[in-house]
Order: sequence, then structure tokens, then C-alpha cells
Amino acid sequence: MATRHLFSRSHILLFALSIIVLLVGLFASPEHSKALFVESGTVTTEPAEKRATPATATPPADPAPVLAEPDPVQRYQIQAGDTLSAIFESRGISLGTLHELLAADAEYLSLEILHPGTELAFRFNDQQHLEQLTLHVDPARKVVFQRQDNGSFSYQHVEAETRWSYHVRSGAIEQSFFKAGLRAGLTEQQVEELARMLKRKIDFRREIRKGDPFTVLVANEVTHEQETGRYRIEAVSLSTRGRTTNAFLYTDGNYYDENGESILPAFRRWPTQHRFRISSPFDPGRIHPMTGRISPHNGVDLATPIGTRVMSTGDGVVTRIGDHPYAGKYINIRHNGSLTTRYLHLSRVLVHKGQRVKRGQKIALSGNTGRSTGPHLHFEFRIDGRPVNPVTADIPTATKVPSDAFASFTELAQRRLALMRTVEMLAPARAHAQVTQTHATGSS
Ligand SMILES: [Zn+2]
Repeated sequence: MATRHLFSRSHILLFALSIIVLLVGLFASPEHSKALFVESGTVTTEPAEKRATPATATPPADPAPVLAEPDPVQRYQIQAGDTLSAIFESRGISLGTLHELLAADAEYLSLEILHPGTELAFRFNDQQHLEQLTLHVDPARKVVFQRQDNGSFSYQHVEAETRWSYHVRSGAIEQSFFKAGLRAGLTEQQVEELARMLKRKIDFRREIRKGDPFTVLVANEVTHEQETGRYRIEAVSLSTRGRTTNAFLYTDGNYYDENGESILPAFRRWPTQHRFRISSPFDPGRIHPMTGRISPHNGVDLATPIGTRVMSTGDGVVTRIGDHPYAGKYINIRHNGSLTTRYLHLSRVLVHKGQRVKRGQKIALSGNTGRSTGPHLHFEFRIDGRPVNPVTADIPTATKVPSDAFASFTELAQRRLALMRTVEMLAPARAHAQVTQTHATGSS
């Protein structure tokens, strides 16, 4: 009970501090107050302004009502260098609560990818205990952690309806493909992804000539007229010395040329040299043995002895390395297109963030870190952020579009080409046109 007192006292302190911060913000730099979002009926800029007005005969407002009815929701925008534990500590949220949240997040690791700008909303109950935490991932997605009667948290992913907005970016190479790509309106990440993809077909140092034309079809995800930040490179066409190289994204997340030949090396299905027994299968409807609630298993568990060599199943870039109390030491890899893989409970990580890795490259040694009932490797495969069963999924393990899918692939490729050509004809030089299509993705 003593700790409870401590928390509410630190909360009172926090409220007092936020008022000070807001006041300082009003007088000092306007950016300063942006750093701390306190959405509240009591602690907003309005009463702060009132108090900030030069002293008149009116005495300062009695702070008692402010403390008696603290607002239940606090919003906070992640800043560069923030850590979850520091954010929680500053709100008087106990380490125990943080661990309960991390437990609820163990199968998703949503709290592991907090970018600057991501917003957290904390809702407290009358006793100033955290009741709900909402993580606004992007304009279309949020994750809600809700406190349950037994003290644990439930996890809910809420997704708004989204659609893809198509953009044609085209230009001609001047000094480099990189510069020309940026000038055409592509992002650095997109140009790098294109270069990685095309370098197997084109020698960028020797074959590229000034004036070589290129066209890229990019789809940006949009919700309520707002871009979410997710994108897909749908197609690219680059001509050099009279030879045109095309690549089209297919539904399996891989890129193929117009003949259905894979542009990228095929994926391995398994991240290990040998096939290991599956100790726990992929199961989106798994009932958690302790809580009795649905707690999906988003990957497969392979019964690997500690120290088993773990390989990247495809070419890609290491986007995250972490050490989580439940997931243990883990690696996230982003592959081309919309594919990502995850490797959990590792004993040793052998790559670093930002490192490019090859298919089959040794990236780690398996282990038993985090909350784990025994040595194993938890492996996840995601398409467009959605976990799929790595055992049965349509993983691009082949170097060619399967023959029964070839007709639908060709139709898709023709549609993409037509879209790119129409825009080129409208504006031959450095065209940039937006083609909006209402292609809604599934919402859940
Ligand atoms: Zn697992």
C-alpha cells in the first residue's frame, strides 16, 4: 500500500510539473510545450494561459480541484532517445505494470517499434493506476492494451479501412540512378530497395548511361485521405542500351519479370540447415493456457538445441535487434517487397541493425532467452505486416511464378505496364502522376 501512496504522490508531482512545463513553454520556446502532450480537462493550455496572465487582484486559482479530478488520459509523443521505462517512470507507472504490458505484447512486439512521433495515450483509473494504454502506430492502426480483472492486460489491434493510392514516378538518369530517383519523387529507402532489386539484372556501374529512362509504380497506403507511411513498389521499368528490364510485385510478395522469372533469389522456407521438429505450430486462435484468452501464436517454434545456426531465409536488411523479457534476444529482417521475418529467443546475435544480409547467411545462434519453456527457435514470416504460417504460406521459394498462377500474373503485369505507359505519354519527361484507385485492403 505504501507504494500506492508513492505513485499518487509522484502523479501529483507530475501534474505540477506539467503545468510548469506548459508555462515555461508559453514564455520560452513554443517547441518546448510540444514535447509534452497532456490532454486534460484541467491541465491544458487554457488554464495555463489564465494563470499566465499578469497578476491582477485575482488570486491564483485554488489547485485543489485540479488534484481532485485528474484527467484520466495523458498523451505523449515519442521523442528521439526515449525509452519505454523512462516514459513509464516519469508517469509513476510501476515496473510490474510495464512487465504485464510486455507480457501482453510478447507475440506482437508492438511496443518495441516506437518511432519518434508515435503517440501513446495512457488512461488511469481513480486510484491513478494504468487502466489502458493505446499505441497509435500510424494513422490507420492502433494497439489497445486493456487491464483485466486479474491485473494482466489484453491486446487488441484496431485497423481502419485503408486503400492504395498509386503514383507513377519516372525520369531519366543523369549522374546516378540514386539522384535521378530522388528527383523523380522516390524516397531514399525506395531508391535503395529498387537498386537492391535491379542489381541482379543490371550492372549499375557499367551498363547505365546518361538519359536512360525509368518508370516506377509506387502504391502508398492511405486512410481517410491521410498517408499511413506504408508503401509498396508495385512495378519498375528501366531501359538501358535498348534493353528494358521490368519487375512486377506479385501477390506472394516477390518480384518477377514479364516472363514470370524471379528477380530476386528464392526464399528458404526454413531458417535452419536441418529440419527440426515443430514444438509449437503457428496458431492465430491459440487459447493461452494460463489466461484462457485467445493469444495467437504468430510463428512456428522449432525444437533447436541451444547454439543451432540460424539463417536469414531471404536477402534483406536487419531492421531491429532487441532483447525482450518475453521474446528474448531477437532479430527483425525486412526483405524486398512487403516481406519481413523474425527470429526469437536467440542466444547470440551475429548481425547489427542496418546490416544487409543474404539468403542463407548465418545471423544468430538459437537459444532459450526470454520467457521460454525450453530451447527453441520461434520463427515468423509476415506479408504486409500480417503473420502467415511459414509451413504452408505461399512463400516465394521458387524462381518462377507457378504455372497455374501464370495467367493471373501476366494480366497483373500488363495492367501495371499500361498504367505506367499512360502516364509517360501524358508527360514524357520526368512524369509524376497520381493514379488513385479505390483498392481497399481488409480491415479487422
Ligand atoms: Zn513461439
